[in-house]
Amino acid sequence: MKDFASSPISYDIVVIGGGINGVGIANDAVGRGLSVFLCEKDDLASHTSSASSKLIHGGLRYLEHKEFRLVREALAEREVLLNKAPHIIRPMRFIMPHQPHLRPAWLIRTGLFLYDHLGKREKLEGSKLINFNVDSSPLKVEITRGFEYSDCAVDDARLVVLNAMQAREKGAKIVTHTRCTSAQHENGEWLVDVENEQGAYQIKAKVLVNAAGPWVAQFIQQDLRLKSPYGIRLIQGSHIVVPKIYEGDKAFIMQNDDQRIVFAIPYLDEYTLIGTTDREYVGDPNHVEITDQEIDYLINVSNDHFKTQLSRADIRWTYSGVRPLCDDESDNPSAVTRDYTLSLSQEKPEDAPLLSVFGGKLTTYRKLAESVMLQLKAFFPEMQVSWTRAALLPGAEHFISADALAQEVVQKVQGVSAVLAIRWVHAYGTRVWQVLKDKTSTDELGQYFGHDLFAQEVDYLVDQEWAINSADILWRRSKLGLKFTPSEIQILDEYLIWLHQQRAQSAA
Ligand SMILES: Cc1cc2nc3c(=O)[nH]c(=O)nc-3n(C[C@H](O)[C@H](O)[C@H](O)COP(=O)(O)OP(=O)(O)OC[C@H]3O[C@@H](n4cnc5c(N)ncnc54)[C@H](O)[C@@H]3O)c2cc1C
Repeated sequence: MKDFASSPISYDIVVIGGGINGVGIANDAVGRGLSVFLCEKDDLASHTSSASSKLIHGGLRYLEHKEFRLVREALAEREVLLNKAPHIIRPMRFIMPHQPHLRPAWLIRTGLFLYDHLGKREKLEGSKLINFNVDSSPLKVEITRGFEYSDCAVDDARLVVLNAMQAREKGAKIVTHTRCTSAQHENGEWLVDVENEQGAYQIKAKVLVNAAGPWVAQFIQQDLRLKSPYGIRLIQGSHIVVPKIYEGDKAFIMQNDDQRIVFAIPYLDEYTLIGTTDREYVGDPNHVEITDQEIDYLINVSNDHFKTQLSRADIRWTYSGVRPLCDDESDNPSAVTRDYTLSLSQEKPEDAPLLSVFGGKLTTYRKLAESVMLQLKAFFPEMQVSWTRAALLPGAEHFISADALAQEVVQKVQGVSAVLAIRWVHAYGTRVWQVLKDKTSTDELGQYFGHDLFAQEVDYLVDQEWAINSADILWRRSKLGLKFTPSEIQILDEYLIWLHQQRAQSAA
């Protein structure tokens, strides 16, 4: 049912898409004093932004494709983001086994020299040459030498949620499960139609920002009925998660003979995350799934390098996403530019502008948002200066170290294990106290759903982090989905239905 009775609220900026780019732009804009509305058709980070390799990285491989601008910006962002969100981002050392028949040592050394020096680096250690001890190395005995360098690992979906929370705290209106269905020009503004389960409504925007990721071009063509300035290449990338194939906290970057690289990354203490692939994707970006060829490819690359040999039976989880890359007409999917392109268009001078985001990386979302603001300055001359570089994301306030905070949690809340405390600290940082409120024992945390999940946390995720269903909680706000059984999920879903009814009654 359409409810257009009341006159639409007018915002400076309406953002379409609650992936990292949409929330990053919304957050930057609201912090500069603009009024902002963001709609996401599904859950926050439910598409590309939760399907990444979960790295905040310069992208060593992009040097080969001469993407120096991107690499420089991304390298510098590593430490900026590490300071902004030390609870969800951590430094990680990467080991590259030397494969002389694929890339000569001088080439790797040159690449790593650039990697060490192109971007500002204070906390992250530089690169070095290493020799492997054949007995203790997890790599096959014939791999005797390699290189080591630094990048960072991130909880990608939580990076999105934290940006959305900060935007909301600064006054942005963020709505999930709400799709923008069309928008048209009206008296120098955009009249924007959105719809959700409750019905449809309209809002107005002085500027429309299209951060629809894989849907960026489709949104322009089908929902706005305009011509897209750029084509988009949808390049699928998939990962497999297996019980850990080596000990330790370092990642491996494996070179394959097709010139691609594949990461093996320590994941959630018990697992190794292996990815990614690059394949042209045709189809609905809502439903991307790993293919048999991708599984074989990832297993083969891992088996070529590690002593522990994998088979399909070892796979505990897979996930896939599509990179929404700006079409630069490369023949090879892994060579398509990973840099972003912004398009600002205005059909007539009196029309409100449309800004569309093509491409981009998690790592560069903050810089991308700053570039968007720079382009929009002409329309909002009063806009305040950039602010996100030094601003801490929610949970990073007064955060000193994960271990110290986890210890405090264990001491204050009786019955909390060190493992649970660390999980909470890496998810919520110092906001863990907002999750726990005044509770002093696990007996006070409400219904227990198994695997260290209590109602106290579920309620917080529903009330503060836009969680609606069990998938939001188990696969994006956390990765507890790796542990939950179907019957446990059903119990959680039943509780969520009850909780939403309670919240609706108290709001009425
Ligand atoms: C396999 C893979 C590995 C990667 N690894 C890394 C990495 O390690 N490090 C890194 O920095 N980057 C990485 N990336 C890149 C990074 O993940 C993406 O660039 C980034 O997540 C894109 O974010 P986005 O906001 O543009 O798109 P998305 O996250 O897809 O968000 C767009 C959102 O718009 C919503 N939407 C679309 N249409 C509408 C509409 N009409 N109304 C409302 N909402 C709408 C969608 O539902 C979606 O949630 C990787 C990407 C892939 C695929």
